Amino acid sequence: MHGYAARREAMVATQIQARGISDRHVLDAMRRVPREEFVRASSRESAYEDHPLPIADGQTISQPYIVALTAEAALLDRSSCVLDVGTGSGYAAAVLAEIVDSVVSIERHPGLARSAAAVLARLGYDNVEVVIGDGSLGWPAAAPYDAIVVAAAAPRVPQPWLDQLSVGGRIILPVGVPRYGQRLQRITRTGIGPPRIDDLGGVTFVPLLGRYGVDGSPVSPGGPPSPSA
Ligand code: SAM
Repeated sequence: MHGYAARREAMVATQIQARGISDRHVLDAMRRVPREEFVRASSRESAYEDHPLPIADGQTISQPYIVALTAEAALLDRSSCVLDVGTGSGYAAAVLAEIVDSVVSIERHPGLARSAAAVLARLGYDNVEVVIGDGSLGWPAAAPYDAIVVAAAAPRVPQPWLDQLSVGGRIILPVGVPRYGQRLQRITRTGIGPPRIDDLGGVTFVPLLGRYGVDGSPVSPGGPPSPSA
């Protein structure tokens, strides 16, 4: 079996470019981030396979293609300030941090957030701030954001995200509930009038929990009120 660098190159060619992702910055980022560092030791050999993998707390690290698709859809440039909702392993945050100067990544599971922050720090991603909390409320302290990239599906776009978005900013969000179909949407805040919505296709994500998520409940300070699906 080839080393991780060769597998990463093959992943970009066969899973990302072959499916139409062409943004040079996204492709370069996917070539640089060592995905094997963000998975369990028992999953390292599978790190570059074309599917999500289990991480702690019953959660998953997203399929590489989905990470690339959401990053491209966010229309980022170096100066963009990005909120990443659902840190999980920290892998998507690292990909975003390769493209932009500033990423805030929010996760409701304290253990996941701490371990992602440790991996990101070890790999030198000093432009990512990992915070613990209910990401459905956004993170007002660092607003406004040029993009909010979301790795969990919400029934509808949470109002706090629209409030924390700069004019012209984009939210990349899976909308819908499991078993009834989810659509990836790009929601752009316009200067006047309602946001513009672009449909980016069908997807499958874990649910967004929290105040504006599927359960509508606040996250307790000591951790989540119930396990995620
Ligand atoms: N982007 C992650 C990665 O690269 O590993 C994958 C994220 S995983 C598919 C979705 C994450 O969203 C889970 O870690 C879950 O705990 C988190 N999540 C769900 N609802 C949340 C909320 N209200 N606030 C913050 N994180 C939430």
